[in-house]
Amino acid sequence: MYCNICGNRGDNLNIFMITMCKDCFEEFANISILDEEYDKYKNLIRILLSYYISPKAILNPAK
Ligand SMILES: [Zn+2]
Repeated sequence: MYCNICGNRGDNLNIFMITMCKDCFEEFANISILDEEYDKYKNLIRILLSYYISPKAILNPAK
């Protein structure tokens, strides 16, 4: 499995629907909202949430 953030292959963790290496996970866990990099992670979280939400949306019958 490759890290979904930096693309490194190695000691990766599976978090929600994505694969993240330990380096990225630590960065992610310790990141500050004021950090420039936060935008990158914010987008990632948005992607995660859309993965999480979409199966439920599909279950909703259209009327
Ligand atoms: Zn990584």
